Parts: sequence; structure tokens; C-alpha cells
Amino acid sequence: MRTLIDTQELSYELKKVIHDVPDFPKKGIIFKDITPLLMDGFLFQKTIQFFFNRWQDEVLDAIVTIESRGFFLGAPLAAQLGVGLIPVRKKGKLPRKTRKVSYQLEYGTDHLEIHEEDLKRLRHVLVVDDVLATGGTVSAVIQLLEEAGCLIRGIDFLMELTFLKGREKLKNHPVFSLLQY
Ligand code: AMP
Repeated sequence: MRTLIDTQELSYELKKVIHDVPDFPKKGIIFKDITPLLMDGFLFQKTIQFFFNRWQDEVLDAIVTIESRGFFLGAPLAAQLGVGLIPVRKKGKLPRKTRKVSYQLEYGTDHLEIHEEDLKRLRHVLVVDDVLATGGTVSAVIQLLEEAGCLIRGIDFLMELTFLKGREKLKNHPVFSLLQY
């Protein structure tokens, strides 16, 4: 069912609950803490409903979502849409054969993995994550998906740190963020 949601009102409510935590996980980073949103059941439901409304009528095979905070949004959205969920996880967490990709963070370097078998079955994909910062993480994931022949239908974020210009790394793709900072 489509429940109409006022984007401006939702953005206002979300910005009220998302906490800025200075110097976490290291000095100079202002960490956007979404746990108060997860604690607010009604607002969390409304946020998932908002993304559901965006994708309800679209053809999707699966949502690809990125460890770990991306799971908070990707999983309920996939369940509500009735499409599969493919987790992209940090190195060594997935039990079956994986494809790997390395990426740059706003604060460090890391590796991500996806189950190879899952990749083979995907075509129309929505990528979901919590924060678009430098765009390093998500562009690595996009590269992995495109190499496997996936069509990226969209890349949706709860929020975007616009001053880090991550969107520029995703130029040829439909990028959406609900909140901008
Ligand atoms: P990036 O690759 O720089 O776009 O970083 C994206 C990932 O890092 C996202 O999955 C976020 O979970 C996390 N991240 C980066 N910067 C922040 C921040 N300031 N606050 C919260 N999470 C962040």
C-alpha cells in the first residue's frame, strides 16, 4: 500500500534525530549517528515507507546493501518490496565463494566481498546505503556489480555529505539521497 509521505516534513524530522558525533571514529570526522532513528519505530517505518514508495512500481531483482549500516535500511526495504537482499560484507564474513573489491573510506581503506553465486543471478539492482561520503565504497560496489553484468537501476542513500563530492564518482548513475548536509 502506498502511504503518501511529505518529503520536507520527513527530512525535517530525520535531521532532528540524526546525531552529529564529533571526532568519531577518529579526529576530524563528524559521524552521523542513525541509531536514534532506529529507536524511533514510527519514524523508521515512515523512512522505509518513503523508499518503498520510490521503488514500488519498478522492476528490481534485488537490493544490494553495504555492511553494516546499509543493512538497517536495505533489509526492511527489500522485505517490504518483496525482492531479494544481497549483502556486501567486510572481508572474511561471507561463507561461500566471493568476489572481492578494495575501497577507500573517508577514514581508511578496506575490502568488501559479495557471494559470487548471488552475483550471477542478478540483473536489475538497487544499491542502498546509509551515507554517501567520498563515494569510494559505493563506486567499488558498483564496479563489482557492473563487471558481473548487473544493471544499476538506482543508488539510494539516506543521506549525502555533499561537501565530500561523492556524487561525482557516480556520474553515470541515478543517485538519490533523502537528506543533504
Ligand atoms: P564513503 O566510501 O566515503 O562514501 O563512505 C561511505 C561509508 O562510510 C558509508 O557506508 C557510511 O556508513 C560510512 N561513513 C562515512 N562517513 C561517515 C560519517 N561522517 N558518518 C557516518 N558514517 C559514515
